[in-house]
Amino acid sequence: MIDVGRFRNIQYGKRTRCMACGAAVGKPLISLPDFPLSEIYTDRPVKEKAGFVDQEFCLCKSCGHGQLLNIIPPELLYFGSSYFFRTSQSRTAVPAVDFFLDFVEGVLKSRAYDTIADIGCNDLYMLKKLDAKAKRLLGIDPVLAGREKELSEGKTVVIGDLFENAVANHNVSFDKDLVLSSHTLEHVKDPKWLVKTVLDSSTDNTLFGFQFPGFESLVRDARFDQVFHQHYNYFTLKSVVRMLTDLGAELVAYKVNPYHWGALMIVFRKNPSGSTAWHKRFEHDAVQLTDEAVLSQYRVFQDAMKLAGERLSAWKGSTVYGYGAANMLPVLSYHMKNDLSCLQAVLDDDERKQGMHYINLPVAIKSPSVVKDFKDVVLFLTAIDNSRILVPKLISLAPKKIILPLNIV
Ligand SMILES: [Zn+2]
Repeated sequence: MIDVGRFRNIQYGKRTRCMACGAAVGKPLISLPDFPLSEIYTDRPVKEKAGFVDQEFCLCKSCGHGQLLNIIPPELLYFGSSYFFRTSQSRTAVPAVDFFLDFVEGVLKSRAYDTIADIGCNDLYMLKKLDAKAKRLLGIDPVLAGREKELSEGKTVVIGDLFENAVANHNVSFDKDLVLSSHTLEHVKDPKWLVKTVLDSSTDNTLFGFQFPGFESLVRDARFDQVFHQHYNYFTLKSVVRMLTDLGAELVAYKVNPYHWGALMIVFRKNPSGSTAWHKRFEHDAVQLTDEAVLSQYRVFQDAMKLAGERLSAWKGSTVYGYGAANMLPVLSYHMKNDLSCLQAVLDDDERKQGMHYINLPVAIKSPSVVKDFKDVVLFLTAIDNSRILVPKLISLAPKKIILPLNIV
């Protein structure tokens, strides 16, 4: 059972500078008072208010980088995720990593490597895919703490710790052929420090392949539900170019993955000459987002959330279930201004989640088997990031009605 008290009056750090270019932060663009933490589950309903922290989002006027200003300690943010998230078991993460590797190997012309490192390697899914191509593999991820001995075998070395501790305590260097990092940079308090650290111990020939959510895609699709406490950083191509230039590095190639969080996939390397001629190749695409452009799309998102709330309210008194116990559901509920207590339960196929509750939502997670006949039931899609998988499934259940919170899939 979790100590709910830990999730009240949460203390947090405050950013004062842009983490991509170092400029002083201006006025927050978006304020999110009492913003819920996501991914915190309990084994009983929580009656008291817990798991909410004020949040603010800021866009850098100098480099276009987006970032959260309030930095909640990782030990609170990742309380429950370590037992729920495994790349190799996620129906969306597996194709996203495969797509990323296709991009990186396409740029690198798929050669053999001496050593490949993966920062934020999760369950080693990506390194295992590259096993045949390298002589040595290094994986770093705090979710593997305590499993280092079991997983370090043959050519693989695993460090089950935060990147900063791995560097400080394990004498790790990045003079590898290839250093990968998938969906980690957005979670790091000081992403520029991480990139500087890996560059400092790399060689001129080391290539880096990173991917993280791209803010341009989030804004274009008005997916502000993808702004949440765990994602401290919202890079744009422009802020990436600025950060790499500051660090004496060069962007080699980039691509966006439209299927998964609009991920910005980049390959970069040291730039010993310091020449900025490479900027020419990216200046057409590296556009500065304006406050107005972001706020205008934020209003599109808010309108969609209001509409979703009104559609749910219209079915008041009927039997309505949510489908898909997404980690992010508290954030969706926040923007809908609806605590979802109108749902009988949120249904989820994952047995580990059944019987659990969100710390900050008054709704239980249950097995779909509790519904004897879906023809009398209205389903509300609660896992919007799995829409492509879940929409056909919900249709196949033949419920009375299906409500989708967003009209973009
Ligand atoms: Zn900046």
